[in-house]
Amino acid sequence: MQIKRLRLSGFKSFVDAADLRIEPGLTGIVGPNGCGKSNLLEALRWTMGETSARSLRGAGMDDVIFAGTNTRPARDFAEVSMLIENAGEESEVVRRIERGAGSAYRIDGRDVRAKDVALLFADSATGAHSPALVSQGRIGAIIAAKPAERRAMLEEAAGIAGLHVRRKDAEQK
Ligand code: ATP
Ligand code: MG
Repeated sequence: MQIKRLRLSGFKSFVDAADLRIEPGLTGIVGPNGCGKSNLLEALRWTMGETSARSLRGAGMDDVIFAGTNTRPARDFAEVSMLIENAGEESEVVRRIERGAGSAYRIDGRDVRAKDVALLFADSATGAHSPALVSQGRIGAIIAAKPAERRAMLEEAAGIAGLHVRRKDAEQK
């Protein structure tokens, strides 16, 4: 799967509409501290279905909406659109959130459930919790982790974390 284009409006610091074309190959994002590099990766994770506000460095989901500055008023919605190509087919995934009203998803203009978006990404190494997305501070956390914690991270990356949950569940029956 390839992400070909990312459009943001009102997402975190991206108050004005931003339209980024992502070319094949390696993409680097550079810029001074606080310019929004991490916000861009969070926009990807959010659009792919991230449900944890904390992992998006917020207290609640509405914190992804532009909160205003001294010179600009807050926005009341945020929208991110991702154009992806999967096995030669393009689709556009959109997530939109309105302040106080929650969020909704569209795939190619059709209203869909969060589950449909999760399914779209399930069979490729993408998705909101993909080990391909390494957040800031995560490398340090892995190095500093206790062996048991590190094992849990590796199991999650290998996709076997769910097996333990199911085993525990089976043992209790
Ligand atoms: P660094 O190099 O330090 O990692 P960065 O380029 O990753 O920086 P980000 O963390 O993406 O920067 O951006 C932080 C900026 O985004 C801060 O200025 C913060 O105020 C702004 N920001 C985050 N959420 C919102 C929001 N809801 N509304 C407005 N601005 C926001
Ligand atoms: Mg950062």
